Amino acid sequence: MNSTSVLRAVGGEIAAFLLAASCAGCDAPGQLLCPSCRAVLVPEPREHVTPAGLRVEAALAYDGVAARCIRRLKSDGETYLARPLGAALAAVLAPTVSPSTWIVPVPTSRSAFRRRGYRVPELLVRRAGYTPQRVLSLVARPVDQRGLGIHERAANVHATMRARRPGGGAHAVLVDDVVTTGATLDEAARALRAAGFRVASAVTLAATPRRARF
Ligand SMILES: [Zn+2]
Repeated sequence: MNSTSVLRAVGGEIAAFLLAASCAGCDAPGQLLCPSCRAVLVPEPREHVTPAGLRVEAALAYDGVAARCIRRLKSDGETYLARPLGAALAAVLAPTVSPSTWIVPVPTSRSAFRRRGYRVPELLVRRAGYTPQRVLSLVARPVDQRGLGIHERAANVHATMRARRPGGGAHAVLVDDVVTTGATLDEAARALRAAGFRVASAVTLAATPRRARF
């Protein structure tokens, strides 16, 4: 094949891929993310406070189109969604960052990394245009947080993280994909502070809307 016919074949494959595709937010055919779903991913920052009092700025509410897109990124390997979602994260991350700030993603379990082949919070930080610092590691494995209440979550994650290096008073901002109660972010902040980092706040792509039982 000459280069023109190769290009034509590749173009045909891309066209076929797009025709077979459906919008990640609403299943509209023929596009990966339709204009109205793209518009829903425009950030509307909201503040959340963790049980230990850490301030969290979230770009989106974790419901509807945003929740579907995040689930597809996390569970279905649809990494192209990291770009629009990373852009939303940038809106809450940019105001907290100075050139000396360490941007520290919440660590991903080894099994989640093996399953996905990427670390969601790190990928979002990169797509937001920043360099993530993999300072935290998991030293124990918490059980799945789903279905646990606020106190159970805090007990479940306590002492599960460790910083790999001393902070020496450096300022760090924590990043996660979704905040529910904030127990995981509290544990991440505890581990960073124990190593000598200063943690003033955290940012997340989305926040789960508060339920009455919280
Ligand atoms: Zn759509």
